[in-house]
Amino acid sequence: CGIVGYIGTKEAQGILLEGLSKLEYRGYDSAGLAVYNGETIGVRKAKGRLSNLEDKLAVHSLPGQLGIGHTRWATHGKPSDENSHPHVDNAGRFAVVHNGIIENYLELKEELIASGHQFTSETDTEVIAKLLAELWNGDLVSTVQQVVSRLEGAYALGIISEYEPDKLVAVRLASPLVVGVGEGENFVASDIPAILKHTRNVYILEDGEMAVLTADKVTLMKVDGTPVQRETMRVNWDI
Ligand code: GLU
Repeated sequence: CGIVGYIGTKEAQGILLEGLSKLEYRGYDSAGLAVYNGETIGVRKAKGRLSNLEDKLAVHSLPGQLGIGHTRWATHGKPSDENSHPHVDNAGRFAVVHNGIIENYLELKEELIASGHQFTSETDTEVIAKLLAELWNGDLVSTVQQVVSRLEGAYALGIISEYEPDKLVAVRLASPLVVGVGEGENFVASDIPAILKHTRNVYILEDGEMAVLTADKVTLMKVDGTPVQRETMRVNWDI
C-alpha cells in the first residue's frame, strides 16, 4: 500500500491526493484521507481506485493543513469502504494509516473490545487507532511509543491526533517510509516519488525508528525515545 502525510501551511488534500497517485502502483483496493480542519479530523474513504475517492472529495472536500492518506492492498478484511484506511478511534481523536500486517491483532482486538471499544472494520490496522485512545497519556509521542510496544508484525504508520494537531508522527518497522523536509512544511511517504514535487531533502527511516514532524521541524528517534542524528539525503534524480 501507500502512505502519505503532510503538515504545513498549504491545503493538505491536494498534496495528499497527488502523492497517493504516485503510489497507486503499491495497491488500489481502496483509498482514503484524514485531514484536521482546526477542530476535528475529517475522514473520506472509497473502495476501488483513487479516482473514486477524488469523486467523493469533489462533493465534500477536506479543508485543513495537516493530513494523512493511504492506498490499500488488503491483507486483513475484504476491499470495502469500512476496511479502508485511515482508521480512527471511537471518539475520532486519532487517525492512523498503516502499511503492513499486525500479527497479534486478534488478541489486541479482544482486549480492546473487553475495555469498551467498538470496531467497525475487519482490518488488523483498526486496533492501532483504538490502542491510541486506550493508552492516551496526554502526550502523543509517548502514547505512540506505548502503542508500538504492543504491536507485533510489520508496519509503516502515519498518525495524527486532535489533541496535538501541530504534529504528525511516523513509525517504521519492516515497511518502507521516507520523510521529506520542506520549508515551513514537512512530508512523509512510502516512497520518494510521492513527495519529490515538493522537496528533494529526505530522511530514509530505518527499522525501529520514528519521526515527529511539525511544520518547521523533523525530529528522528528510535521507538524507545533514543535520539537519532542523521543528515538529510539529497535526491538528485527525477521521475
Ligand atoms: N493490513 C492492513 C490492511 O489490510 C494494511 C494493508 C496495506 O498495507 O495496505 O488493511
